[in-house]
Amino acid sequence: MIRSAKLTDGMRQLLDYLKVEGFTCIIASDSNAFFIEEILQEQQLKSYFSGVFTNPLQFEGDHLLISPYQQHNCERCPKNICKATIVRYCIGKFQVVRGEARQV
Ligand SMILES: [Zn+2]
Repeated sequence: MIRSAKLTDGMRQLLDYLKVEGFTCIIASDSNAFFIEEILQEQQLKSYFSGVFTNPLQFEGDHLLISPYQQHNCERCPKNICKATIVRYCIGKFQVVRGEARQV
């Protein structure tokens, strides 16, 4: 079912443009690593992103266990993830050079 998820109209064109122009893109999502990985593989988009920040998921027998991505004190965000924290971290982590994104 998750593999049949479709991109929003125009998203592929936007991602292609950002990749060609050398923008660094990340995913910061309150979903989970399994779903995001499945979508990125199905849509062949893994190479478009420099990082995926989301809730980890693990299988225990027949059960899926989703853990919180982080603990934080932000009052705007859900308890398990603060996207502003992630963006601030990435701004410090990635040195963006037009046409090339490098980890620093
Ligand atoms: Zn927040």
